[in-house]
Amino acid sequence: MSRLASTVVPGKTPLAFLPTPLEPLPRLSAHLGGAEIWVKRDDCTGLGGGGNKTRKLEYLMATAIAAGADTVITAGALQSNHARQTAAAAARLGLRCILVLAAAVPGRGDCYDTNGNMLLDRLFGAEMRLFPAGTDLDAEMAKTGADLSASGARPYLIPIGGSNGIGALAYAAAMEELDRQCREHAFAFDHIVTATGSGGTQAGMIVGAKLAGMAAPIHGISVSASSADMQAKLEAIAEQTLELLPHARGTSPILVDDAFVGAGYGQPTDAMWEALSTCARLEGLLLDPVYTGKAMAGLFAYIRSGRIGPQQRVLFWHTGGAQGLFGYEDYLTPKA
Ligand SMILES: *Cc1c(COP(=O)(O)O)cnc(C)c1O
Repeated sequence: MSRLASTVVPGKTPLAFLPTPLEPLPRLSAHLGGAEIWVKRDDCTGLGGGGNKTRKLEYLMATAIAAGADTVITAGALQSNHARQTAAAAARLGLRCILVLAAAVPGRGDCYDTNGNMLLDRLFGAEMRLFPAGTDLDAEMAKTGADLSASGARPYLIPIGGSNGIGALAYAAAMEELDRQCREHAFAFDHIVTATGSGGTQAGMIVGAKLAGMAAPIHGISVSASSADMQAKLEAIAEQTLELLPHARGTSPILVDDAFVGAGYGQPTDAMWEALSTCARLEGLLLDPVYTGKAMAGLFAYIRSGRIGPQQRVLFWHTGGAQGLFGYEDYLTPKA
């Protein structure tokens, strides 16, 4: 039986293809000079294009349904993968979906506003409310929720990125899934690398890793916040997660690296481009410009600097997002 049964959260609504595949990347490993690189394919969770938010939404949607919700409201950037997966989950479960979206990334072309996740949100039937950069999205969500309640609807608010204790439970469970796959292969990873943004993914992982007794350091490559701010965010979400798991104790070490953010959230970097195009050309593996491209740039740098050694086995936890590529056509086309 799972060690992750929570007494507080009403189970989960099945939405994802689980377990996600665990695959070796031999051509990328050879290219980078030895470390044995594997990828955990959470880009293949299935629902509406897939990605890491689908795991979280299994728990969040179960909670919304148990609360009697008829509408879910969430928020993010225009190219939010979380918003897109929430829209798909709401469609599948017959709930109304309202997305509170901000044009948070300066200097992008027209396709950023209309293609990629934006196109898919519309296709899934979500209602989009658009705001300028700098908008307090939490306040806008709260206002939208209050207006809906006043008109007799039953809204459920899902935080940005699905990152609260309930959403993070999914990644505590995902570590248990990884632990089972490692046992099947009779091996362990020396390092795990993943993108970290709103924090629920890494927070769940560090709770789950501690619970499963997995020793590999989990390196969160920040895509927006400073290491110090991200560290505080992860501690807060891990704390909420632990409150839902009375038998769990503490987390594995919190490691965050903000060296790969570049000019800011959603702003391309040369290192991201090198990582993204190398994975495409050597492995047929799609990354995204906002999250996994920057996280993979971190993995490349760790191998080149020797922080991850040539004899070591490293897991890149792919969190999805390739749908966002179509919002970056202007950036990608001249260099392809
Ligand atoms: C949201 C997202 C992340 C970051 O996950 P958080 O739980 O928000 O830290 C990473 N990769 C992709 C593709 C995402 O959409």
